[in-house]
Amino acid sequence: MIVCKFGGSSVANAAQIKKVLDILNESDNRKIAIVSAPGKRYTADIKVTDLLIQLYNKVILSEKYDDEKQRILDRFRSIEEELPLKNSLLIKFNAQLEQYINQYHNQPLRLLDALKSTGEDFNAQIIAAFNCQNGIKTTYLSPKDIKMIVSDEPGNAIILEKSYDLINSMIQNTDGKIIIPGFFGVNYHGDIVTFSRGGSDITGAILSRSVQAEVYENYTDVSGIFAANPTIIDNPAAIHNLTYAEMRELSYAGFNVFHDEALMPLYKEGIPVNIKNTNNPDHPGTMITKSRESTGVVGVSCDTGFVSINITKYLMNREIGFTRRLLTILEDYQISYEHMPSGIDDLSIIIRKNQFNNNLNTLLNEIQTTLHVDEITVEKDIAILMVVGLGMKTLIGTANKATEAFKQHHINLKMINQGSSEISMMFGICESDADQAVKAIYDAYFTAS
Ligand code: ASP
Repeated sequence: MIVCKFGGSSVANAAQIKKVLDILNESDNRKIAIVSAPGKRYTADIKVTDLLIQLYNKVILSEKYDDEKQRILDRFRSIEEELPLKNSLLIKFNAQLEQYINQYHNQPLRLLDALKSTGEDFNAQIIAAFNCQNGIKTTYLSPKDIKMIVSDEPGNAIILEKSYDLINSMIQNTDGKIIIPGFFGVNYHGDIVTFSRGGSDITGAILSRSVQAEVYENYTDVSGIFAANPTIIDNPAAIHNLTYAEMRELSYAGFNVFHDEALMPLYKEGIPVNIKNTNNPDHPGTMITKSRESTGVVGVSCDTGFVSINITKYLMNREIGFTRRLLTILEDYQISYEHMPSGIDDLSIIIRKNQFNNNLNTLLNEIQTTLHVDEITVEKDIAILMVVGLGMKTLIGTANKATEAFKQHHINLKMINQGSSEISMMFGICESDADQAVKAIYDAYFTAS
C-alpha cells in the first residue's frame, strides 16, 4: 500500500484538489491520502491555519470575531463552489467552529489546537465528499475515528507507540479510498492536540508506519529536494536519493520541504519517503531511504537565529565535572543546546535564540558565579551552515574545500564542528554572511570542476 500526503499548496483551491484526486484515484495501491489545510494560492495569500490563529486571537481577547470566522468559511466556500460540491458542508463547519469556541473559551491552549485543526479537518471532509460525488467509494476518517492517540502537549504532540496497531486495524476495516486530515491527533480524553507547525508530514509518516506502507509519497509544489536553497542558488542540483540521517541534518538547518520529526516513525521500519510534485507527478522526485550508495557532499543548508556563549577558564580540561555542571545549569533553565565545540581552556555552546525567555543575562550570571569562569562572552547573530553527505567520511580534502571557499570570499569562520558520524560538517558564521557563504560553498562542491 502507498500512503500519500498532500501539502497546503496542493490543496489550496479546487483545481489543485482535482490534481490530488487524479493522483490518488490513478492507482489501486494508493488507498490513503493525508491532506493539509488550504495553503497559499499566491504569494500574498494567507494560509487557512494562519487565518484560524487570527480567529483564536480575537476570541481569546473576547473581541468580535465574525469577520475572521467569515474569512475562513469563505475560503472553503470558494473551494466548494469551484469544484463544485453539490451538498455544501458550510453550515456544519460554522457549527463546529462555534462549538469549539463555546466549549474551550476558558482553556486557551485547547481552543487554539481545536481551531487550528479545523483547517485540515474541513478540507478532508470536502475532498472525501467530492470524490464520492464522482462515484468513487471514499471515506473521511478523523484522527479520533482511527484512534490516533497522541501525548497531551498542545501544539507539540507526539504519537503514542500503542496507536500504530490501533490505526492499522481501523484502516484495514475500511474499504475504498480514505481521506484523513493531517496535523492533529487526540489525547486519551478525545481532546484535539496538534503537532508542531507543518505537522501533516508527521500524520503521513504515522499512517505509513501503521500500515507498513511500501512507500510514503509526500506531495508538495517542487519536484523533490535541491542541494541548496533555490531562493539563494539559481537552479540548484536536484537530489535524487538521500538517507534519513542526511535529510535530518539538512532540515535541521533550514530545509523546510519535509518536517524533521516526520522521519521518526519511518526510521525504525525503513519505510522510504518519496518527495514528489503534485503539479508534475511523473517526475521521480527525491527518495529518502535508510541507506544509499555514498557519494560526496549531497547538500548545503544554512539557518540563522543562533547565539554562541563562549566560556574560557584556565585549566578547564583538568576540572572534573565542569561540563556536567554547565549542562545542569542549562537544564535548570530548560534550555537545549545545538553544538558544543571545545578547546582545552574554552568551550562554546550554540543555542537557538528562541530558547531564551528574556533570561540570557541571568543565565550568564549564573554560569559566571557557579563555575567561576575567567571570561564569558556572547555572540548573538550566528548562522549555522551545514555541509552534508554520507560520502564525506571517506573523501579526503572535503573540509579543505569549504575553508578555502570561505577564505576566497573573505568570510570569517567562527567555529567548525564535525560529528562522530562524519555525515556533516558544521560551520558557525555571522548571520550577515549567510547567503554569500551558501553561494561560496555550493560553488565549491557543485559547480567547480
Ligand atoms: N496546516 C498546518 C500548518 O500550516 C500543518 C501543515 O500544513 O502541515 O502548519
